Amino acid sequence: MKFDVLTLFPEMFEPLKTSIIGKAVQNKILEINLINIRDFSKAKHKKVDDTPYGGGAGMVMMPEVVYDAYNSIKNKEQAKLIYLSPQGKTLNQKKVIELSKEEHIILLCGHYEGIDQRVLDEIVDEEISVGDYVLTGGELPAMILIDSVSRYIKGVLKEESTKEESFSGNLLEYPQYTRPEVFNGVKVPEVLLSRTS
Ligand code: SAM
Repeated sequence: MKFDVLTLFPEMFEPLKTSIIGKAVQNKILEINLINIRDFSKAKHKKVDDTPYGGGAGMVMMPEVVYDAYNSIKNKEQAKLIYLSPQGKTLNQKKVIELSKEEHIILLCGHYEGIDQRVLDEIVDEEISVGDYVLTGGELPAMILIDSVSRYIKGVLKEESTKEESFSGNLLEYPQYTRPEVFNGVKVPEVLLSRTS
C-alpha cells in the first residue's frame, strides 16, 4: 500500500521509521512518501500562508501551493485523498478496515488555521478527524491513520493479531498477562496458566 503525505513538516514523521511500521517500509510492504508543500511555493521566502479574508486570528494555507504539491504526485487520479480535519468524520476501526482496502491514499495535513476552502473543494475526497479536539496540525492525525490502517495490510502483522483485539467485534479486549507468574504478590488468573505456551 502506498501513502503520499502532503505536509509542511515532513520531519514530524520520524516515528514511522521505527518498530512495526518502519519494518514494513523496509520490507516494501508499505511505501510512505513525504511531500513538503513548502517546496512548491513560488512566493518570496517560500511563504505558504496568508491572513484570512474576513479577519480572524491565525493564518490560512494558500490554495496554489497546496494544489501544486498535490499535482506533483504520480497517479493521483487513482488515489483517495483524505484531508485530516477536526470537521471530518471521526476515525474508528470500521473506517480503518475500509481504508486498508485502498491501494493508494494521499493524506493532506493542514496547519495554522487550516487550508483555503477552494483547493479543498477541488482535490479532497474525504475529511477525517481523529477526535473532537483541535491539534496544531494534521501530522499527528496522519500518523494515527497510517499506523492504524497499516496494521490491516497483509504482512505487516501476524494475521491473528488483528482478529481478537479491541473493536474487532463490538467488545474491548480482555486484560493480558505474561511472565512472571507472580508479580508483587499478584498471581496471573488460574484459568490462563494451563494455556501458557
Ligand atoms: N481552524 C480549524 C478549526 O477550528 O476547525 C482548526 C485548524 S487546526 C489548528 C490546523 C490543522 O490541524 C487542520 O487543518 C487539520 O489538518 C489538523 N487538525 C487539527 N485537529 C484535528 C483533528 N482533531 N483531526 C484531524 N486533523 C486535525
